[in-house]
Amino acid sequence: MIIDVHTHAWQYPDHFTDDFRAQGRRAKGGGDLDLTVTLDAYNATGGRHADRVVVFGGKARLSGLWVDDDYVAAYVAQDPQRLIGFLSVDPTQPGWQAEMERGHQQLGMKGIKLLSMYAGFYPHEERLDPLWQYATDHALPVLLHTGTTFVAQAPIDCTLPRHLDPVATRFPDVRIIMAHIGHPYEGEAVVVARKHPNVYTDLSALHYRPFQLYQSLMLVQEYGIWPKVLFGTDYPFTSIDASIEGLLGLNRMLDGTALPRLQETQMQACIERDTLDLLRLS
Ligand SMILES: [Zn+2]
Repeated sequence: MIIDVHTHAWQYPDHFTDDFRAQGRRAKGGGDLDLTVTLDAYNATGGRHADRVVVFGGKARLSGLWVDDDYVAAYVAQDPQRLIGFLSVDPTQPGWQAEMERGHQQLGMKGIKLLSMYAGFYPHEERLDPLWQYATDHALPVLLHTGTTFVAQAPIDCTLPRHLDPVATRFPDVRIIMAHIGHPYEGEAVVVARKHPNVYTDLSALHYRPFQLYQSLMLVQEYGIWPKVLFGTDYPFTSIDASIEGLLGLNRMLDGTALPRLQETQMQACIERDTLDLLRLS
């Protein structure tokens, strides 16, 4: 069984501002960053092997990304047995609480996606208390982007995994997923996940920086938190096939060295992890 806990659905380029796209070109070093999403393309690059797939859009006015939850719901409706929609809110914008309740109660979304750095807020701010309380009351997992970006106006401090520590202390029942092992703040992500029984991390979109992913997972291994690492891709940024191949190929970098190996059994267990059960989505 494979559960992909991190994929996106949006209309590219319509759901992005020109500024976002220009900064994407700058980061890429020229040429448009093509973020086109289709279920067919996802399935064709290994996605058909994923038994269940979490799908969200993203809302972050500051950075120039806005995907209405209706769009995500329509995407999920293409394969409702397999796709699991998460709603998004940008708590810096008016009406976010109503959007949250509508996404959950009317559109049937099963979790919440937050882009704290992209939108410019801290997850432990008081104005988010109603969100964490709602997630507690309705058993909604909350997945947050943690880690870097190419968007200049997005404040890096807002992304630091350490800000989830006080949230998990105050709202210990919420299943929190810190995306991307907080790259390159993986040390923070590892210590926060280790402290809190219901805080997890995902290794999506990291395999194309293999030495960094090796170091991040070695930290995971040495701190003994492999069971807290969930499998995900971050499609359209990468695919199921490339993510599995990249993960299982990490130890090959170490050929001819005495560096410690990542445990193959743990990597395989991560790919096959029953994430739905852990997040109470079964
Ligand atoms: Zn993502």
